Amino acid sequence: MPPANNSAMSNQPIPLKPPPAAAARTNLYDLNLAELTAYLTEWGQPRFRAQQIWEWMYQRFVADFAGMTNLPHALRQKLAEQATLQPFTVAALEHSSDGQTHKYLFQLHDGKYIETVLMTYEKRRTVCISTQAGCAMGCVFCATGQMGFLRHLSSGEIVAQVIWMARELAQRHDHLTNVVFMGMGEPLHNYAHTMTALDRLTDAAGLNLGARRLTISTVGLVPAMRRYADERRQTPLAVSLHAATDAERDKLIPINKKWPIPVLMEACRYYVEQTGRRITFEWALIEGENDTVEQAQQLGALVQGMLCHVNLIPLNPTRDYAGRPSSHERVQAFQDTLSYYGVSSTVRVRRGIDIQAGCGQLRDRILSAAAGAA
Ligand code: SAH
Ligand code: SF4
Repeated sequence: MPPANNSAMSNQPIPLKPPPAAAARTNLYDLNLAELTAYLTEWGQPRFRAQQIWEWMYQRFVADFAGMTNLPHALRQKLAEQATLQPFTVAALEHSSDGQTHKYLFQLHDGKYIETVLMTYEKRRTVCISTQAGCAMGCVFCATGQMGFLRHLSSGEIVAQVIWMARELAQRHDHLTNVVFMGMGEPLHNYAHTMTALDRLTDAAGLNLGARRLTISTVGLVPAMRRYADERRQTPLAVSLHAATDAERDKLIPINKKWPIPVLMEACRYYVEQTGRRITFEWALIEGENDTVEQAQQLGALVQGMLCHVNLIPLNPTRDYAGRPSSHERVQAFQDTLSYYGVSSTVRVRRGIDIQAGCGQLRDRILSAAAGAA
């Protein structure tokens, strides 16, 4: 999700707390049902206990073991001492002024931060989740890229973000409909944990979300994209393209030097062939940088005839990048040019512009404020 740098805050952030104690406890969302069963049978528990706990986790979204009322008291106590259902604490929470976007800054057990955003639309309830703390890819316009790579998230840390939002919605008698892997980090760089989380979220025995209701977004890690295509997963793939020539993309996305556009487009075509699914291209429109009619023509020529869709998102400015969002007129001209090439596109509204609803932006601001106050 694109970050925004706008001072019109609707909420005061919760003051930063010291990091929680190091993770001596097992995050139960890191385990599948067989692993949970093994974990409990080692404690001498009957096999059906795992199923009971699983239902509390994936159907009722209970936040702590005390709420698992059909378990013996002693077991609940032991679980509370040795395991956890919430592998992070809320360091800051902000709501957009229209009340439709809610942004969480979570602090992990080792003190690192991730961001998770809940967006409510007329019909959809979408959560945007992180897969890494920081990111190694260094895209120049991205707040997460600007902070560098800190670490991969475990599958349980990824799943728990979704469960947290499912719980929030359930408390309002509502439910989650979509998940986008567009928060902090590059999902395909943390391939194994991301796919384990994806499986858990879509598994009928897990959260049971329709696989097509999720979207994985990648900066274009070609070998991992090919692997994803070979696995023929039902979950759609979005590719952050942002430029149609190597000269331009090299400036914005360092990884382009390793897998330049011709190689990336070959992998995109391979994905479409293998899965029969449409691929989405993300394009952050930066005034005077990648928003000219000529660049729209280059993009049109590049993807013409391919089963694809383009998402146009006016840039959300970030602290360390001078680029500005394109004006409405330039966005319109870009989109009109794409239609001339028969390429379908949607202009995405920037959600939560007043709460830095993009990867890395909230952490950046809160930590800068904390440093200023110290
Ligand atoms: N690493 C993945 C997913 C996380 S970023 C990827 O790059 O695809 C999610 C999306 O937000 C990407 O399309 C990314 O290019 C875009 N993005 C990042 N910073 C942005 C900004 N400042 N303005 C607009 N879009 C941005
Ligand atoms: Fe990483 Fe995606 Fe940001 Fe690039 S845009 S730095 S890949 S999170």
